[in-house]
Amino acid sequence: MGYRCTRCDRSYALDETVWRCECGAPLGLDPGPGLEPSGVDDGDPSLWRYREALVVPPLEPGLRFGEGTTPLIERSWNGSSLLFKLDYLFPSGSYKDRGFAVMTGHLRRIGAGKVFVDSSGNAGASLAAYSAALGLDCTVYVPGGTPSGKTTQIEAYGAELVRVPGPREATAEVAVSGAPDGFYASHNWSPLFLEGVKSLAYELWEQLGHRAPGAVIAPLGYGSVVLSLDRGFRELEAAGSISGLPRLYGCQAEACAPFHRAYVAGDPAEGRLAPHEVGETVAEGVASSAPIRVPEVLEAVRRSGGGILAVSEEEILAALREVHRRGLYVEPTTAVAVAGATRILGGEEPPSFGGPPVVILTGSGLKATEKLARLRQRVGAGGRGALR
Ligand SMILES: [Zn+2]
Repeated sequence: MGYRCTRCDRSYALDETVWRCECGAPLGLDPGPGLEPSGVDDGDPSLWRYREALVVPPLEPGLRFGEGTTPLIERSWNGSSLLFKLDYLFPSGSYKDRGFAVMTGHLRRIGAGKVFVDSSGNAGASLAAYSAALGLDCTVYVPGGTPSGKTTQIEAYGAELVRVPGPREATAEVAVSGAPDGFYASHNWSPLFLEGVKSLAYELWEQLGHRAPGAVIAPLGYGSVVLSLDRGFRELEAAGSISGLPRLYGCQAEACAPFHRAYVAGDPAEGRLAPHEVGETVAEGVASSAPIRVPEVLEAVRRSGGGILAVSEEEILAALREVHRRGLYVEPTTAVAVAGATRILGGEEPPSFGGPPVVILTGSGLKATEKLARLRQRVGAGGRGALR
């Protein structure tokens, strides 16, 4: 098993410190072995119970957080039912811990002592948390407008924080060009991050009685949730452990929806926005104007029979208010998926999934206190505000 380029098929050994192919394209991994119910380690309550499905060894027990196995709960939603996957309940407050648990363990094994990443906040916090646990020297580049809840968390873990003015993509450029030493531990580039997040598919499979859900609805920024679910469920299907793939839906904010534009156009080349095409959104965590794995995401969504949605700020705020009122305190970015679910279920002819769709709740609202407070103030003056 090694890395394989998603464009030119060139291969690299897993212990090489590469983060992309020489041709510039992102790297991938061949499918893992999948898992049968008997292969799950019932004695381990964390995501490491699926270690036999992973293509790299698990994190050493003394370095783990007990990450994974988040609750899956059913709630009524506008006359239908939804299953909410509470993936904001992770040590660093977002699902990204799934990916960094696997990725950082591998980096430590191959001798990377210094790591850096660019992030809209949650990935930086997650890498910083694992770097603290594993003794890695960590630097996180964030856009200037990153909420203080996230930057405070990153610095509290002991990571160095570098604020970069301008949009999300400027942060990525500075990180890659400005950090001469250390390993670029990018969740958007590393296939080992996707390898870790694929535990989400295995967890859903087990929580649903060793069956795949009919559909999964997730926020879509760079595509890691959609791609990891695609990888995990395809492995389970190849192993004969499920009989079909769930429909995968990726949800973007209308203000920054390059995947949606490429999906509608049927052309991956459309999946990149110029600065003047990017608007303001409360969902800063998915506001990625130049995502990397566009062809892969489009293929995964099409193969599953799902789709890509772009929801308005009004839909996001309404979904945020509604999900908070159910006791689910998520950050605004997460509400993009809830808004997508509302739209899918509320259409004139809602699709039948053979069971409630799963909505992935990706990030905690506790990181976005200031932003949520501002939203309440903004809408509070009129008395009928979106968050009231
Ligand atoms: Zn290549």
